[in-house]
Amino acid sequence: MIRNILLAIFTVLFVNTAFCQSVDSTLIISDYAFSLVNNANIQKDITSSLKGFLDNIDNGSRNNPFIDPVYIKKDMEPFSWFIIYDNDAKSTNSKINTIVLSVLPIENASYLIKLQYMDVTNPCNKKLVLIGSLITKMVGNKYYFYNAVDHYTRFWIKQKIGTINYVSATNVNQINAEVMNKFNVSLARKFGIKPIQITYYKFEDPEQLFKIMGFDYIPNMYYSTSGGLAQQWKNTLLAGNNSELYEHEAVHFYTATLFPNRSKVADEGYATFLGGSGGKNLNQLAPFAKNYIKNHPEKNITELATDFGTVVEGNVPITYILSALICRDIEHKYGMNGIKKLLKLNAGEDYFNNLYKVNKIDKTNFGSYVNGLLREYN
Ligand SMILES: [Zn+2]
Repeated sequence: MIRNILLAIFTVLFVNTAFCQSVDSTLIISDYAFSLVNNANIQKDITSSLKGFLDNIDNGSRNNPFIDPVYIKKDMEPFSWFIIYDNDAKSTNSKINTIVLSVLPIENASYLIKLQYMDVTNPCNKKLVLIGSLITKMVGNKYYFYNAVDHYTRFWIKQKIGTINYVSATNVNQINAEVMNKFNVSLARKFGIKPIQITYYKFEDPEQLFKIMGFDYIPNMYYSTSGGLAQQWKNTLLAGNNSELYEHEAVHFYTATLFPNRSKVADEGYATFLGGSGGKNLNQLAPFAKNYIKNHPEKNITELATDFGTVVEGNVPITYILSALICRDIEHKYGMNGIKKLLKLNAGEDYFNNLYKVNKIDKTNFGSYVNGLLREYN
């Protein structure tokens, strides 16, 4: 038995060693990559398509000839994380080796490709960037590439509760799902449009979220122990909070659709006012911002109000909380018209200019205005 395995490994090694010589030096085929795909023509076609796909990745998926045009109609950007890391490597002049770890035959005559990105800029200190999966399938006479999420969720439960289409490993909690649906319907009513149909993936945590998206390792999976992502271009919510409820991200679907030029400060503020952040509502978050301001008298509130880098207790940027308090004040005083005016930023206009138009608060009285909004909290 052991002899047979050794023989098989030897054959695979031989095939791959011979094969390696024909591929670009930045695409490395590991020794056992094709051990389950014996056909040399398939190996060759997948490798050359993969190379083409990767060469075109930073042009964006719509301009990548190795992505099925029918698929792009359903998902405008299925490879955002690969693109982000590719652009990151370019902007820092890093040299990335792309290694094909394995190619696995899977359902629907497709193959799962396991890729490893290694940063080899410093040969004495090579760093793992990510390990991710892609799906490839021959359509016509060409291999096209797909996100791995449909493969990893092929046995998951798909349940529609009102306007929310849940995809989850276990049955959804009906009570929570109803609350989420009601929240979505109430948002639509507020903005005066029909409810947006939301696809909602429920994950236990960000680590599982990224695994199901096709990443065995990507640094982002360990940036926080809870949270989520919104793919606004397809109204898809990836909730890494082990819950059917993720109100914050749902707000962004409406603001993204209705206010394409909105300021990020106002957008995150309104989403935090209505949907909280990091699992806490605005009344729970406000004391964190108040404490931070009290303990950092050297910091200027006007700067904190647009500084996404300052994170307070609860792992929430202080900007989210201050802007949420301002949004609540505006909605109470001026109703949805005030909120719509705040979100409807003209191109090139700054947050404070726009705020002044809504509630006549300018930079000179901004600090005392915000302190006033925080007064009720301890
Ligand atoms: Zn947000």
